[in-house]
Amino acid sequence: MPYDYDVLIVGAGPAGTACALGLAGSGLRVVLLDKAQFPRDKVCGDAIPSPALKALTRLNPAWAAELRELTAGHRTDMRTSRLVSPAGTGVSVHWQAPAFNSPRLHFDDALLTLVRRHTDTDIRENSSVKTVTADADGAAVQLADGTRLTARLLIGCDGAHSAVARALAPAPLDRARHCAAVRAYFEEVDDVPATTSDFLFLGRYRAGYCWVFPVGAGRFNVGFGMLSSDVARQKLDLKLVLQELLETHPHLVPRFTRARQLGPIQGFGLPLGGSARPLTGPRALLCGDAAALIDPLQGHGIDTAVISGLLAAEHAARCCAADTFDPTDLAPYA
Ligand SMILES: Cc1cc2nc3c(=O)[nH]c(=O)nc-3n(C[C@H](O)[C@H](O)[C@H](O)COP(=O)(O)OP(=O)(O)OC[C@H]3O[C@@H](n4cnc5c(N)ncnc54)[C@H](O)[C@@H]3O)c2cc1C
Repeated sequence: MPYDYDVLIVGAGPAGTACALGLAGSGLRVVLLDKAQFPRDKVCGDAIPSPALKALTRLNPAWAAELRELTAGHRTDMRTSRLVSPAGTGVSVHWQAPAFNSPRLHFDDALLTLVRRHTDTDIRENSSVKTVTADADGAAVQLADGTRLTARLLIGCDGAHSAVARALAPAPLDRARHCAAVRAYFEEVDDVPATTSDFLFLGRYRAGYCWVFPVGAGRFNVGFGMLSSDVARQKLDLKLVLQELLETHPHLVPRFTRARQLGPIQGFGLPLGGSARPLTGPRALLCGDAAALIDPLQGHGIDTAVISGLLAAEHAARCCAADTFDPTDLAPYA
């Protein structure tokens, strides 16, 4: 059966771009689809964990250096995490491994620029996948404009509301393994060294925390997130909770007297790792949030997105070389 592509990646966030970078030089025909036009925003805390940067450095040190150049001006290197307990006790953790904060608007665009510069990937923005089908003979997606694309293997990197996962590896929402979080950008926040990320733990909202992260250019990503089952049980509106914290929390009030909010408070879900979600489906591998791989303790998922994208690339290359896509051939990826 003739296919349009060998590998069709849905979603050009950290998972999808890492996967495309991992397939560079494989000789495979790869397409990377995203419903958005980049640069595009993604609601996030914007803390890029060091394992993501390490994985990209292992793949290609020159590309990792280029990523730093591409994010210059929209990045702040992170040296310290300051943790504040509900009783107000603080402890600082100093990091050796390189990590930085960078707004996803810029970070994800930089990753896609690497794909554009260093791979033969066919990048298609403004390409929203509406339907996904797969069987023993191959996989196909239909886009919003009616275009149909076929491939030997699909890689679902399309985030927390993955169309690929919904169609090929459905799993019910488990609120005990899912977080809800909100964030807004601010400037003129006082008493936050440019290389320090703050985490505030709160007695009233135990399964979660509030954060203040400098993200470069004098801006701060300020947010609050907690376990979705607790949000539902306590009937919370997280946007109101964040506003209330900024107005009343003794560690925040003095620092936000001059602060100016830039844009609205926005929210999004975090599918946490440890759920029973399958990571493969017929002719499909899932990565990042589509596979529910977010660290359940701290809520970071950019690192697991990048790492799973790279692992999926390796596995896709193996399956394509052997021309075997049976469930038993895909299972080792999981
Ligand atoms: C409020 C909040 C704060 C967070 N803070 C952090 C943090 O500080 N550090 C951290 O490491 N993690 C954080 N996370 C988690 C992190 O944002 C995700 O784990 C990460 O974005 C996952 O990357 P991904 O590539 O799997 O998915 P995404 O980044 O969501 O990318 C998915 C891509 O798929 C595209 N797409 C979706 N549907 C379709 C479709 N049907 N057709 C075509 N394209 C589609 C989207 O446009 C998007 O570009 C946070 C999450 C939230 C909600």
